[in-house]
Amino acid sequence: MPVQVYKDLLEVMKSRRGPYAGMDIPEFYELVEELFTPREAEVNNVLGKKPLPAGDIAKQMGRDENEIQAILEAMADKGLCKTYMVDGGRRYQGVPFIPGIFEYQFMGGKTTERHKKIARLIHAYEQAYEAAAGEIKMTFPTSRVIVVDRAIDAGNTIHTYDQVANFIDKYDTIAVGTCYCRHAAQLRGEDVHGMPMDVCMWFGSMAEYAIERLGVRRMSKQEALDVLNTSEEAGLVHMSRNTTEDIEFICNCDRWHCGTVQAVLKQSRPALFFNSGFQPRFDPDLCTACETCIERCPPEALTLGDDDVPEVDLDRCFGCAVCATGCPSEAIAMEAKLDFPIPPKDTKELVASIKASYAK
Ligand code: SF4
Ligand code: SF4
Repeated sequence: MPVQVYKDLLEVMKSRRGPYAGMDIPEFYELVEELFTPREAEVNNVLGKKPLPAGDIAKQMGRDENEIQAILEAMADKGLCKTYMVDGGRRYQGVPFIPGIFEYQFMGGKTTERHKKIARLIHAYEQAYEAAAGEIKMTFPTSRVIVVDRAIDAGNTIHTYDQVANFIDKYDTIAVGTCYCRHAAQLRGEDVHGMPMDVCMWFGSMAEYAIERLGVRRMSKQEALDVLNTSEEAGLVHMSRNTTEDIEFICNCDRWHCGTVQAVLKQSRPALFFNSGFQPRFDPDLCTACETCIERCPPEALTLGDDDVPEVDLDRCFGCAVCATGCPSEAIAMEAKLDFPIPPKDTKELVASIKASYAK
């Protein structure tokens, strides 16, 4: 039987939302008992979204400030909470599993026995969670697939929230770390199909924390664009939170290891969960029926039609443009989908849109 502090931790992680937010199954407790000591779990359970000084957190718990500060520092070094400076003072903040604790364990590329064990436990928890959760009911995209501007048909109006360059311009601090999903897969002894590893990008306060504590590297805006290009050549999908203001991260995901992509691919209509708002248009005069796009398409949304031109299943297509950027004949243009919902402004609006979609 899990002790009470880990049962409380379950409710806290559920309230922080995000993929795999928390489920009362044995795999959850096996994982969190490895991640958090009981004292760390206790501190985690009082951390909120608002970043606070250690003194305030200690007061809330009725405990000594030095003791709580030491626990918080150890947690920050283990990737269990976020910390950064605000107006010259250190603050601590609770984080969800994704984006947050799961990625923080692996973005520094560490290969210790503990990291290998955590990689196995996270995988087991994700698998058990998916098996128990079944088909996802919501219909509003939680994640936004981002298309690099040059892949988009010149006839489209490109909104600022569709432009990768706009996201990169917005933040002074950008960090690049090891892909959490592929590194965790390597730690479990799996093949990563030659995909690039150092392509996970973090922005703003997330990036500051990751540079200070988790062993990731600061990079320039130009390097960030280069990382996107490298990812695109490899056929990776650029993914972020579906909001216009606080993106915090861009993941470059593959179809074999990204836990979230894999979970979505098991749904009957994957395009409802990830989407860019664009779809491919094929030029039959340029297409040579080489099938490169069909092989590259991560959700297997393409088939060769009777006229030897690819046809797209829009229930599966993310609008990622991996087909367009890999077409040797430049026969694919990405065009805007009609009636695609404008992304919510921030996380609060996103949660409201997701809840509303459940009710339909
Ligand atoms: S990659 Fe280009 S040329 Fe080849 S089948 Fe697809 S659209 Fe046609
Ligand atoms: S058809 Fe496949 S590769 Fe092309 S945009 Fe859709 S999901 Fe991406």
